[in-house]
Amino acid sequence: MSMTAIPQTSVWRGVPGTLIALAGVVAVAFLAPQQGYILNILMQAATYATAVVGLVVVLGFCGQISIAQAAFMGLGAYGVAIGTVDFHLNFFAALVLAMSLAGALGLMLGVASLRLGGHYLAMVTISFQQILTLVLINWTSFTHGPDGVRNIARPALFGISFEQGNDFLGVCLTAMVLTAVAVWRLKSNRLGRAMRAVRDNELAAGTCGIDVFGTKVLAFGLSAVIGGLGGGLFAGGFRYISPDQFSFAESIVLLTMALLGGVQSPFGALLGTGLLVILPEWLRFLRQVYLAVYGAAVILIMVFLPDGLWGFVDEQMRKRARPIQGAVPPLPMLSETGAETDEAVLKVEGLAKHFGGIKALDGVDLLVRRGTVHALIGPNGSGKSTFVNVVTGLYRPTAGRIVFAGTDITGAAPHQRNRLGLARTFQNIRVFRGMTVLENVMVGAERPGNGLQGEAAGLRALAALDFVGLRGDAHRMVGQLSYGHQRYVEIARALAGSPQVLLLDEPAAGLNMTEKQELGALLRRLKGHGLTILIIDHDMNLVEQVADHITVLNFGRRIASGTKRDVLSNPDVIAAYLGEPRHEAA
Ligand code: ADP
Ligand code: MG
Repeated sequence: MSMTAIPQTSVWRGVPGTLIALAGVVAVAFLAPQQGYILNILMQAATYATAVVGLVVVLGFCGQISIAQAAFMGLGAYGVAIGTVDFHLNFFAALVLAMSLAGALGLMLGVASLRLGGHYLAMVTISFQQILTLVLINWTSFTHGPDGVRNIARPALFGISFEQGNDFLGVCLTAMVLTAVAVWRLKSNRLGRAMRAVRDNELAAGTCGIDVFGTKVLAFGLSAVIGGLGGGLFAGGFRYISPDQFSFAESIVLLTMALLGGVQSPFGALLGTGLLVILPEWLRFLRQVYLAVYGAAVILIMVFLPDGLWGFVDEQMRKRARPIQGAVPPLPMLSETGAETDEAVLKVEGLAKHFGGIKALDGVDLLVRRGTVHALIGPNGSGKSTFVNVVTGLYRPTAGRIVFAGTDITGAAPHQRNRLGLARTFQNIRVFRGMTVLENVMVGAERPGNGLQGEAAGLRALAALDFVGLRGDAHRMVGQLSYGHQRYVEIARALAGSPQVLLLDEPAAGLNMTEKQELGALLRRLKGHGLTILIIDHDMNLVEQVADHITVLNFGRRIASGTKRDVLSNPDVIAAYLGEPRHEAA
């Protein structure tokens, strides 16, 4: 299946399917009546479906709830209506202007609301939706008010007129197919994967080099432009529009269409829209009970197929995916045998982080030399995770300075730190649950600065999976793996980005004995290749196996730091942490 195979960079990918689909819709348009009931149904389905594909981008891919898709359709529709009727613009010129307006407003709303996270976008889009309806009704001199706009023009292009209803339907269906194909391709390219990573886990996405805020704004802007396209074509299709066609209730209908068909895929969007346009027409003979039957049908599908109709199809196809055969070039860092150097690749000075009265970190110094494994140990609650979170930019430090590879990163965003080559795993696993194992690792491979895209990123991801021994699971959804293997996926994701330093926050947490031993072997292999690692743990066995240097924290303060030998025999460390003198390994 294309979604889980290594992405092909060829421009021809999907072209035969697109041509068949286009031939199909041209045939439909040719056979459709020139006006009347059937034509109207088809016109509505085609233009709504286009707008719903926009929801796939913002909600399906990026996980942001927008309740204003009807408003963006309205902007597109009124742009075309007012542009052609009052300003006598060419239809396509008016359409492009209207789509730009929708996109610009989408970007502005996105910038204003998406930095806040949570469900602010949902709230802001509800308000925007209501405001737009009020403007359309009350700004009579410009919008024609509640009566709406009549006699909207249909276009002519290169001497071909689309005046006839079924000819214009051909335009709408073509736009629908091309939009769906573009969004389908987006899903499996770098930007689409970044959106889905943001949807599944914002923190992890940021530490994989993804600009979370920018990605969300872009997704919302794109969905607004696509909504504008659907609306503009709707205006041309019906030649008459009024404010109530783009109300809050319509936004909910569009959302339902997306969720019903399956919001993860543009084909789901087409399916859901087709069904919700046609279903009410079929059920009309039921008269009064029609709404109840219609509502029950929608609820049943959503309860039994939570990923929508297309989600079911997708799952069946994934089950048939076969393992990817063939050799891949090994991870670049594995061809090197890095030796310990004196270069301080990570230098932390006086780092403090206070949570109210709790001093989780209280003036910690730490220096990691390139080519070494540095362990940060300490009892539970001593500030180890806080240290990693501050160093990777998830928390702002209360005081102190962090220099990474010669750059002061104290104030940098998580994705900027990752782009410099700082990768991490999390104490509580943070994988991208809506994606396959391979896609998870590709997100790591595609970090800006790594210079990999498309097929090359896929091959790099496979090499990283080879290294952790999970290549055979590449096509599975990551959530189907055991806890221990999900941790390996996280490590592979970090490795695929060829980091300069890898931070591992309690990688052994939650693993059983066998898995712990496997992890120890994996870390020794990494160490053998000279990868610089900062490992956090309170399990001394693992630390003793791999560490060159150890720093010990207690109550947010550094109580010892030095070579493994010195630290483990330090009386303060023994008293505060180890409890009893340890025997030197033979
Ligand atoms: P460790 O990883 O060494 O077990 P942590 O860094 O998770 O320790 O926690 C250190 C201290 O900081 C603990 O007392 C913990 O309760 C507190 N702490 C950590 N994160 C937060 C937070 N986000 N808000 C408030 N307190 C926190
Ligand atoms: Mg911790």
